[in-house]
Amino acid sequence: MRRVYLDHAATTAVHPKVLETMLPYLQNQFGNPSSIYSWGREAKAATENARAQVAALINAEPTEIVLTSGGTEADNFALTGVAAALGQRGRHIITSTIEHHAILHTAEELERNGFQVTYLPVDADGLVDPETLKQALTPETILVSIMFANNEIGTIEPIAELAQITKEHGALFHTDAVQAVGNIPIDVKELGVDLLSLSGHKVYGPKGIGALYVRRGTKIRPLIHGGAQERKFRAGTENVPGIVGLGKAAELAKLELPERRAHLTGLRDYLIDGVLSSIDYVRLNGHRTLRLPGNANFSFEFVEGESLLLSLDLAGIAASSGSACTSGSLDPSHVLLAIGLSHEVAHGSLRLTIGRENIKEDMDLVLSVLPNIVRRLRAMSPLAPEGEGLSYVH
Ligand SMILES: *Cc1c(COP(=O)(O)O)cnc(C)c1O
Repeated sequence: MRRVYLDHAATTAVHPKVLETMLPYLQNQFGNPSSIYSWGREAKAATENARAQVAALINAEPTEIVLTSGGTEADNFALTGVAAALGQRGRHIITSTIEHHAILHTAEELERNGFQVTYLPVDADGLVDPETLKQALTPETILVSIMFANNEIGTIEPIAELAQITKEHGALFHTDAVQAVGNIPIDVKELGVDLLSLSGHKVYGPKGIGALYVRRGTKIRPLIHGGAQERKFRAGTENVPGIVGLGKAAELAKLELPERRAHLTGLRDYLIDGVLSSIDYVRLNGHRTLRLPGNANFSFEFVEGESLLLSLDLAGIAASSGSACTSGSLDPSHVLLAIGLSHEVAHGSLRLTIGRENIKEDMDLVLSVLPNIVRRLRAMSPLAPEGEGLSYVH
């Protein structure tokens, strides 16, 4: 059976050229970058080359890139590190209700440690209103953290405007750009952000590697203590194969971005139009145009998300849902609730995230099986209205 992977927001396959670049560093080029002999110097040179590649993707300076174990650590480092550095000046942080748990759970931990956190609401499309940020800023505010693009609904936030408001107020601005990097052009100088998180495995790089961009001069304390690696901002012997892989993934993303973006946007719009025109009682979650190139997120009324996923899996299609059973908790996705969906409608959500290796035939497979799956599941639902395939229920 042909299998179609449509969960690129969860993780991506390592690009063949990334793997090729990494292999020597898992084999004979195994040196520790801190060692002075040739093995060490070669590993050091490779990590510095990768740092420059990551910096180039977002128009940063290489010295402004701190390599981490991934997006989660970068987010933890940004919030906890700034709180530790500036906690004497103020103890208020602003974020949004739709952030990734790497931000939300770190913010909650800071609340337990005496910080006050404001969670900005979003509108029905998932957008943060810059006016609400203006109103939430206080003399105590030291940091604002708003994600670049949401991992569930794909909505792209007005980051330049939010960063400008924050800067005028004298606080620092962080953005979790894990989903945006490699999919949308990002220029940290133009955007005016102070800190930005990214992750390797969301951009065809390896898992377990990421980075935090830290604008030169930004006050931040390390999260991980030990040796003098990463200019003492992040201790621990470097994950050299991972770093080299992240660098190559960043180089390829910069090179291929316009092409990837056009390819993904075309497939996305084809899929969205096809689903909305072939299935009733469906809504598109997230903004229609201010949206990640590869993201499609729907809610189907009278359908359970996990049943949808199981049926799609039987058809060879990998997708994800914001329903409770797939999130590992009793509540459906906090993002879907934040944009105003009822629990019932949030339970019937389906996220399809497209990647560079997908083709139009993959979308056609979804469009050929999804209407029947939805019809069949609704036929078993006691909530679905008459005529929605209920003929054999009575
Ligand atoms: C995946 C993701 C993260 C976490 O990154 P990891 O590298 O998996 O730790 C953080 N934020 C967003 C928006 C993500 O999509």
